Amino acid sequence: MKITALETLCLSRMHEPERQWVTSRYRTIKADCAVVLVHTDAGITGIGEASAYGWPMRIAEWVEWLAPTLIGKDPTDPAITPPPNGRGRPHDTAAAGIDCALWDLRGKVTGKRVSELLSPNPADRVRLYASGGCRYDWRHNPEQLIEEALGYVEQGYTAMKFRIGSEWAWDGVTVDRFIGHIRELSQAVNGRMDLALDGNCRLTEEQALPIALELDRLGFAWFEEPIDRNNIAGNARLCAAAELPITGGEAFSCLDEFRPYIEAKAYDVLQPDAGLSGITETLRIADRAAQFGLPVYPHSWHNGLMCMAHSHLVAAHPNIKIVELCQHQGPLQWGIVKERPQVEDGHLILPDSPGLGVELVEDVAERFPHVEGHYAINVER
Ligand SMILES: [Mg+2]
Repeated sequence: MKITALETLCLSRMHEPERQWVTSRYRTIKADCAVVLVHTDAGITGIGEASAYGWPMRIAEWVEWLAPTLIGKDPTDPAITPPPNGRGRPHDTAAAGIDCALWDLRGKVTGKRVSELLSPNPADRVRLYASGGCRYDWRHNPEQLIEEALGYVEQGYTAMKFRIGSEWAWDGVTVDRFIGHIRELSQAVNGRMDLALDGNCRLTEEQALPIALELDRLGFAWFEEPIDRNNIAGNARLCAAAELPITGGEAFSCLDEFRPYIEAKAYDVLQPDAGLSGITETLRIADRAAQFGLPVYPHSWHNGLMCMAHSHLVAAHPNIKIVELCQHQGPLQWGIVKERPQVEDGHLILPDSPGLGVELVEDVAERFPHVEGHYAINVER
């Protein structure tokens, strides 16, 4: 079997005004998606989602650039995957999309699920967490965060991650006010679901430390990217000071980029993203992390096909623990695939089909035509 062509589908969907969301100083106005297809002379096609943070049109350009290195090759040969190099997000996301599509293809060729290719006894279901809390605005609706959390409890989720809200400087939000708010959230949830906080690198170390200690007290599951990710020493100090795991790594595409954080003990949990690293490199990162006793909670934003890649990784690899599922992506998220996998008690059941286990709807490009431009606009107040 030989690869005959590569293709990239660039897809979008504008959010309705009431589904737009503000975090920090951004208003997110649309959902994007980039799907890489690897076609073969056997008529079998593999599909993989590249992180749309690599920009769909630029991903398409890179896939086109990489295609001649793959056409004519045997897709079952693991050596053909273009590795991420950490030097450019569009390149790495394109390589990641190709890698995920090749794994899907290998599953379809052998009649096995990707998780079965990766492990002799993979799990049949994986724990999800609801990734949201991007919609509460300190001026207009801070309590929305709590309503949203209770909605996830209602839906059966066992964990949720939220962000720190709209720009603090707009409304004089202080660490004390924030801590008051998360205490209220924690009381409302009342142990029915694990909670995690994502600082999105927005806090100073002086702000992050008292928050981390309060999260400890409240029994939070983790504290993600509290401060500038380039501040390795500051992250290491937070790791040493707080009991709960300090996590990060969503912007890093290869193991080399994680190395300084592992060596400096700057993260307790690593968060690579198969849409940026590919399945192959994510496994490499997870294996190495295991040697240092560091679990992996993959980063997974955007759409259902990427959720599937991460679900197979979690099902197959003992060091990869939980699947993030974005709650703000809207109908694009699962509208790209024919059948949305079942979710029971906050766990995704892996479909009993080969590869990643889902197929694109036939008219996906017509249903979700690509919309040029940035997914977010800057807001000033
Ligand atoms: Mg994050």
